Amino acid sequence: MKKFDYHRPQTLKDAFRLMEKYKGRACYIAGGTDVLVRVKKGAMEPDALVSLRGINELKGYERNGGVSFGSMTLIGELEKDPFFSRGFPALSQAAAVVASPQIRNVATIGGNLGNAAPSADCAPPLLTLEAELTLEGPGGKRVVPLEQFFQGPGRTCRDPLEIITRITIPPLSEKTGMAFLKTGRVNQDIALTNAAVLLVMDKGVCRKCRLAVGAVAPVPLRLKETEALLEGQTIDEDLLARIGEKVEQEIRPITDVRTSEEYRRVVTGVIVTRAIRSAKVNS
Ligand SMILES: Cc1cc2nc3c(=O)[nH]c(=O)nc-3n(C[C@H](O)[C@H](O)[C@H](O)COP(=O)(O)OP(=O)(O)OC[C@H]3O[C@@H](n4cnc5c(N)ncnc54)[C@H](O)[C@@H]3O)c2cc1C
Repeated sequence: MKKFDYHRPQTLKDAFRLMEKYKGRACYIAGGTDVLVRVKKGAMEPDALVSLRGINELKGYERNGGVSFGSMTLIGELEKDPFFSRGFPALSQAAAVVASPQIRNVATIGGNLGNAAPSADCAPPLLTLEAELTLEGPGGKRVVPLEQFFQGPGRTCRDPLEIITRITIPPLSEKTGMAFLKTGRVNQDIALTNAAVLLVMDKGVCRKCRLAVGAVAPVPLRLKETEALLEGQTIDEDLLARIGEKVEQEIRPITDVRTSEEYRRVVTGVIVTRAIRSAKVNS
């Protein structure tokens, strides 16, 4: 493994300065559960890693009707902190099935999104919650809807110097129900497919529906055509059967080392309909 420098700045400005000094040969590291695997494999050979752990602005959360939380929030906090598990159960359900407890205790939400894996478990629930990311770089701050952040496997709209500082979830209606489901080869494995659902039900009618899936397209994907079939409707078993078929048409899975395109297509339809049933009960 090639030797690299390691820096732990205390402020965003110092982090930007370090990245500028290495002229594209440095990389941010949060929990390191993705970055260090790639460095050890030789898939990346940075001159330096710039740790985000010492930067206080990237930690904690504020309620503002919705919530704004720091990108260094641990996956384990999303899983266990009652603020998240009561307020955003689908996000907690997703966090609870990321890798192992050891990894969840160091891995961060910023890393889960920044890595831009199509299978990232926290992406679908945050897409259904219509989360926005705040990106800060030497030139200033900008806010990007999570849906526009992902551009392909491992690719995002983030400039290499920009840091994801905060994730913001807008306020939710009181009647919101949500659920997350994942299939993997074994527990704690990368998803073969995953799905998140957010529903607002009123007098038995679906007033709002947000659906998102992972590992079935080059990016974590909102299913807008399927959402449109549900909104304004009473959700019954006939409709759910049609929903399963529509999901199969809307996704773009591939065959890879984990499973086949056909498996992903059929199973995603099944887990989306199961998650809708579960979100409906909770709304
Ligand atoms: C054995 C194993 C099992 C795994 N299982 C799962 C799983 O089941 N589900 C799942 O979703 N993932 C899984 N992963 C992937 C990984 O653990 C998660 O994606 C994790 O959340 C990454 O967070 P991190 O803080 O460790 O990121 P890091 O490795 O530190 O960073 C990942 C990427 O994001 C960038 N980055 C990190 N933070 C920021 C920031 N604030 N601003 C800008 N860029 C940033 C880094 O530069 C890097 O490119 C697994 C990994 C391993 C090794």
